Amino acid sequence: MASDIEIARAAKLRPIADVAAGIGLAPADLDPYGHHIAKLATTSGAARGKLILVTAINPTPAGEGKTTTTIGLGDALNHIGRSAVIALREPSLGPVFGRKGGATGGGQSQVLPMDRINLHFTGDFHAITAAHNLLAALIDNALHFRLPTATGLPLDARHIQWRRVMDMNDRALRQIAVGMGPGNAPAREAGFDITVASEVMAILCLADDFDDLRLRLARIRIGRDEAGTPVTAGDIGATGAMMALLIDAIRPNLVQTIAGSAAFVHGGPFANIAHGCNSVVATRAALAHADFAVTEAGFGADLGAEKFCDIKCRSSGLRPAVAVLVATVRALKYHGGAPLATLAAEHPAALDAGLASLTRHIENLRLFGIPVVVAINEFSSDTAAEHAAVLSHCRETLGVAAHICRHWSQGAAGAADLAHSVAALADADTADFCLLYPDAMPLADKLRTVAQQIYRAADISLSPAAARQLRQFTDQGFGGLPVCIAKTPYSFTADEHVKGTATGFILPIREARLSAGAGFVVALAGDINTMPGLPRVPAALGMDVDAEGNITGLD
Ligand code: ADP
Ligand code: MG
Repeated sequence: MASDIEIARAAKLRPIADVAAGIGLAPADLDPYGHHIAKLATTSGAARGKLILVTAINPTPAGEGKTTTTIGLGDALNHIGRSAVIALREPSLGPVFGRKGGATGGGQSQVLPMDRINLHFTGDFHAITAAHNLLAALIDNALHFRLPTATGLPLDARHIQWRRVMDMNDRALRQIAVGMGPGNAPAREAGFDITVASEVMAILCLADDFDDLRLRLARIRIGRDEAGTPVTAGDIGATGAMMALLIDAIRPNLVQTIAGSAAFVHGGPFANIAHGCNSVVATRAALAHADFAVTEAGFGADLGAEKFCDIKCRSSGLRPAVAVLVATVRALKYHGGAPLATLAAEHPAALDAGLASLTRHIENLRLFGIPVVVAINEFSSDTAAEHAAVLSHCRETLGVAAHICRHWSQGAAGAADLAHSVAALADADTADFCLLYPDAMPLADKLRTVAQQIYRAADISLSPAAARQLRQFTDQGFGGLPVCIAKTPYSFTADEHVKGTATGFILPIREARLSAGAGFVVALAGDINTMPGLPRVPAALGMDVDAEGNITGLD
């Protein structure tokens, strides 16, 4: 079987200007980066389409295929004669060279050119890295010269909250010492996060436009002055230079799928300590140029879709018309207790148990008033009996539309049923979108609401530090922000080993952090790593470039 990169390389790409013309964009609207990639040079007009949110059951090592299904559904909507534009996150180099590999879809449902999108693309992540690290350099410079901040006092070196970032999995940089050696003072402990964990990334993805980007960057909390007053990026004069580094990065990137559909691939915040979806400007661009904008939220619906709604939709006013819940037979069996190594074999009891997870995610999406369609992303090991069991559970027991989708193996035609179903549901306008909690709810109650209604916890427990931090943020005027819970994506609980549909557990919140620029309060439930390490055998070790300059082993 051909690998993803082999399929991608065999595809014939259209000039990007042709793809753009197909969605009503003139050459003057584009800033081409070579023949097959362009940035939008102009701002998008009003939304004309409906928003389709692709989400999934909790991820498993067996793979679910959200990105693949987002692309397949977009292609399939175009295939059945409706117009669709796709909006996706940009891949991060960390997972590309680490465990996960590329993030441009798979099989016949990919965005192209896959190697360039997966590697440097248009340099957005490099620009975000530079803007983030410029702020870090300005902070250490302000410490070195004891410069007064806007409060009149210098920064307190013991309370710097701003770390550095790099788009690589590199555990050696998690905790480091900076300012070592003569003349480089002050020496202090610092560390790196991966670029997708940067607040600048979350800001870029939530900003409405340049002006909003500037306001959000200025609000970034970097630490406190020597009297304990909070200090922001704006307070040390960093905003303008950061803007200068980001003016191209905030413009959406246009590419195409194997089938020739237009796709905006733009931004990529973490889905744990941030909201995990592509930029608001890219989603708006997709909505401005088609009947349907098909977009993906990170992780499973408990984390990704909740944040999509309560963070991205809350701040932008975007409203999904339909949610597509992606599941695979393999992943359902895994959630139902079947061991990873046995997932190719039928296991009716495990499949049945796994369907409880699917049910819970459907119930959760209904809490937001979004109608749901289930997409079973077919793997070659699936059997007809397994498909029948899942379809009957969805259609007969739950009354939810469900379809077996073969876009990975067959391309657009393989997801035509899904496309018809999604289009019909969107046309019927049955969504009655609502946020899970109002802005005015106290922060701790917001956390409790998500924990109880989405994860089905009995309650939350706040560590003394977390309780103090929530009180402080509220006193400082940030009590109206939404919450962003960072927990394992593999379980409804904070323990990744607890599979299935746990209830009655306590969700422990050990720390709260303010992302004042992005506009949310992060609550850490369990150990969340913002600088991943490489696995023992990283994907990087399987990559090479052949004599013709083609990249191999990038899948
Ligand atoms: P997600 O967005 O949920 O993380 P992706 O769409 O990126 O998942 O898919 C993860 C991996 O699984 C990709 O390498 C993709 O090629 C593979 N994959 C997706 N769907 C299928 C399928 N139906 N059969 C086989 N492999 C698949
Ligand atoms: Mg994905």
